[in-house]
Amino acid sequence: MAAPEHHTVIIVGGGPAGLPLAVVLGGWHPYYRGGDLFSSRYEQVDRYLRSKNGTLLGLDFRAVTNAGIRPADLFRILHHPGQKFRGEGEIALDFRRRQPVDVLLITREEVGGVWNSVPENMLTLSPGQWMEFAFHPLDRHCREQRIDLDVNALIAKRHLIDYYHAVPRRFEVADRIRTHEEVTRILPHDAGFLLTSRVVGTDITRRYTCKYLVYAVGQRCILRQLNVPGENLPFVTSGYDQPGSYPGERILVVGGGRSADWAATELHDAGRQVHYVMRQPFDRHWRLISDSRWGLPYYARIAEIMESRSPRLHTRYETRVAGFEQGASAGLANLCRNGERETLEVDHALLEIGGIADYSLFDGFPPLRPVEKYDNYRFQVHQLPTHPHNYESAAVPGMYPGGYLAEGLGLVVIGMHGTTYAIAGDILQKEGRL
Ligand SMILES: Cc1cc2nc3c(=O)[nH]c(=O)nc-3n(C[C@H](O)[C@H](O)[C@H](O)COP(=O)(O)OP(=O)(O)OC[C@H]3O[C@@H](n4cnc5c(N)ncnc54)[C@H](O)[C@@H]3O)c2cc1C
Repeated sequence: MAAPEHHTVIIVGGGPAGLPLAVVLGGWHPYYRGGDLFSSRYEQVDRYLRSKNGTLLGLDFRAVTNAGIRPADLFRILHHPGQKFRGEGEIALDFRRRQPVDVLLITREEVGGVWNSVPENMLTLSPGQWMEFAFHPLDRHCREQRIDLDVNALIAKRHLIDYYHAVPRRFEVADRIRTHEEVTRILPHDAGFLLTSRVVGTDITRRYTCKYLVYAVGQRCILRQLNVPGENLPFVTSGYDQPGSYPGERILVVGGGRSADWAATELHDAGRQVHYVMRQPFDRHWRLISDSRWGLPYYARIAEIMESRSPRLHTRYETRVAGFEQGASAGLANLCRNGERETLEVDHALLEIGGIADYSLFDGFPPLRPVEKYDNYRFQVHQLPTHPHNYESAAVPGMYPGGYLAEGLGLVVIGMHGTTYAIAGDILQKEGRL
């Protein structure tokens, strides 16, 4: 058998967590530039950073953490000194190209992660500029691509995914990225880690070794299933795209979180008869809608639909799906509420019940001990305990859970992007490359 292909660093997952690491390890280093807004808001930090020379990847992250600032927060305030974007000049960072590290990114879809598969017309929950990378402001991307967009507003998925897709070529790291390849197993190895992968849709397998591993696979490695009979019937699908993808009049949406709310609202407004089924009680669902309706347009819309008692949106709370069957002329969904059964005739059933981060690929390592994390937006994920100064796994030296897979981080891009620089800095410092 041929020797595995070796790289100093392998990143698994090319979403908003993994992709910027390929760029920064690929040579794009942050330097302190400062600025009026930053120095007026963060006087002490400004003084500290002015006393340092060279790339910020060389900071003593342990000392920064001991001084009470988490590295992710330090880079967040450098990148976003104010809530609103008012010009690149306010970003207190400047990026310069240095020698790259031998890094490879492997990801099973295109770069951009989950944004490749969220609904076509979906809006972000955060302002567009909160989803950007510090080295490439969304505003600059829009100017370069001649796109007219308000980066302080929520933006459509297609604009965001275009931005992520543009990054590898714009920063000349495309040759360090392998898309449509899925890592299937990770074992300990003398070199550090041994990875096996499979090229998606083929039987081609590959083996790699690396000294450092960034595991940035996100929260939807495995889509949740209901585990009920008939779930594999053709009229049942996981994940929603856009109304035109689902023929027929009567659509069952199973879920109750953000993605399911989006699907139910858009299908209703496309003229479909929507049956919306969820296990949670009405109060819990309505709280999410009420909390969100003033900030998010599609929540204002679902609130309006429900308050107007539209006959085309039929909600069923505290209800579970017991199974699916193929009827003579339509699909049948068997529902159960408080022990009472109901069978619905539907043309299509959509499951929008989220996913999980998959840690089962790790074999032969000490237990990773994931901990559960929820946020106010009802996102949830299992995070791994890490050292606070470098986001390295507490259980497996040399392994870095990417983005918000590290314990304690908020489940949004703006909350996790700063980990990029602490992880890259830690690796470069260990390698004696600074
Ligand atoms: C509907 C929806 C709306 C959201 N809205 C917002 C928002 O407005 N603002 C915000 O900040 N966040 C939002 N999020 C959170 C979202 O998770 C983040 O924006 C971001 O995508 C997380 O990045 P990530 O890189 O950690 O994970 P992901 O984006 O999930 O990327 C991980 C990548 O790794 C790949 N992968 C997984 N396993 C393997 C493997 N074994 N081998 C190779 N590749 C693998 C995946 O296929 C994926 O491409 C939203 C999420 C969803 C689902």
